Amino acid sequence: MLQLTDPTLLRQHAYLNGVWCAADSGDTLDVTNPATGELLGTVPKMGAAETARAIAAANKAFPAWRAKTGKERAAILRKWYELMLANADDLARIMTAEQGKPLAEAKGEVGYAASFIEWFAEEAKRVSGDTLPSPWADKRLIVTKEPIGVCAAITPWNFPAAMITRKVGPALAAGCPMIVKPAEATPYSALALAVLAERAGVPAGVFSVLTGDARAIGGEMTSNPVVRKLSFTGSTQVGRTLMAQSASTIKKLSLELGGNAPFIVFDDADLDAAVEGALISKFRNAGQTCVCANRIYVQDGVYEAFAAKLVAAVAALKVGDGREAGVTQGPLIDAKAVRKVEQHVEDALAKGGRLLLGGRRHALGHSFFEPTVIADVHAGMQVATEETFGPLAPLFRFRDEAEVLAQANDTEFGLAAYFYARDIGRVWRVAEGLESGMVGINTGLISNEIAPFGGVKQSGLGREGSKYGMDDYLVIKYMCLGGI
Ligand code: ADP
Repeated sequence: MLQLTDPTLLRQHAYLNGVWCAADSGDTLDVTNPATGELLGTVPKMGAAETARAIAAANKAFPAWRAKTGKERAAILRKWYELMLANADDLARIMTAEQGKPLAEAKGEVGYAASFIEWFAEEAKRVSGDTLPSPWADKRLIVTKEPIGVCAAITPWNFPAAMITRKVGPALAAGCPMIVKPAEATPYSALALAVLAERAGVPAGVFSVLTGDARAIGGEMTSNPVVRKLSFTGSTQVGRTLMAQSASTIKKLSLELGGNAPFIVFDDADLDAAVEGALISKFRNAGQTCVCANRIYVQDGVYEAFAAKLVAAVAALKVGDGREAGVTQGPLIDAKAVRKVEQHVEDALAKGGRLLLGGRRHALGHSFFEPTVIADVHAGMQVATEETFGPLAPLFRFRDEAEVLAQANDTEFGLAAYFYARDIGRVWRVAEGLESGMVGINTGLISNEIAPFGGVKQSGLGREGSKYGMDDYLVIKYMCLGGI
């Protein structure tokens, strides 16, 4: 079983209004280790009734939380951040056990997750208003920002800690309580964060974590009029459903949905740097991030050279249980995820793709898949339009800038895009021409707490992290003061 320095971080109960509790029904969900298939434990299978109680509790906790000064909220968040860092090894162990990512990557995520709490602790003190020049001599115009109210969040399994802190950080900093429903596969990371939040002094009801039935919990979160804001990270399909459900109560929405990131290598690129960037962008978390390169476009003149270098680099990746030293590729999250990668590979090979590396389920079994590179990929293949969310690097070939920009933008998604080039005019043109919320230029790694994360088109709404991230949890109030 899981060896932790502080075993109390592993909770098999949900955290509702400051109380660790089971589901009303007593039902539970199993949590397994994707690297071994081993049962790690269970969590409560909660539903609409528990969610309604958590929402009512949050509403009750709201006035006192919003009444605190930004500085007071900042002090509590800062404590939470410090506790996350102090417990980073245990948090990483929990994450690797339930999610599969290599321990070093899990520890990296804990630092990344904590950075959002630190950042928004600082931002809590900087929610400034405005005074506007009045068109009337006897009136003054004042703008203030207020917390939007009770917030709800539904988060995915690929970043079990960071996708939570990126939402809870700004919500709590702004003065809003938040209820989180983590993904079924990775509830223990979320519950461990709740343990630390409680220790940091986050009051009961201000932050609750409910595990269980996604539809039932999501249904209550979206239909309950007390919830003023929903933040979701996950698939575009579920995002659409939640948006439709939220229409009945006109909730403010933040949606971080699917991506289909192009990664373009121009013939003036530094090829070694491009290979390094492709490796990070494509194979981080075994290809299971929404900003992972999904389509790699390489210009004619450097196509074969890039392919050869990439194959050599990918061949050096080490697949295995994330707890083992040196492992860089853990298992995929589940059998369904493996099937999707396998399908994309089969489809590409059936339509003329050239297999350069991998292509099959890994000999380790479970949900391990071989890091794969396929050349001669074209627009008619599934990988061109669907997010693979796995360790498959498909290499498309292109002739010129106009052609590749058209292809890169030929998708309903617009989250991240990457390109490697040196010519400054081209760098500027392509950066402006890409239809995406984020562009990595000569780098494959762009995420941090200071930069705004988010997409355009059907990749979502709103921005997380950065100085813009608070706005999603604030409403503007305009006051007109007359009689002067
Ligand atoms: P992924 O493909 O990453 O699993 P999903 O969009 O299916 O993405 O899941 C992301 C989160 O959304 C998870 O917490 C999951 O439980 C939740 N979820 C899935 N379906 C629904 C739904 N119908 N209502 C509310 N939440 C849902």
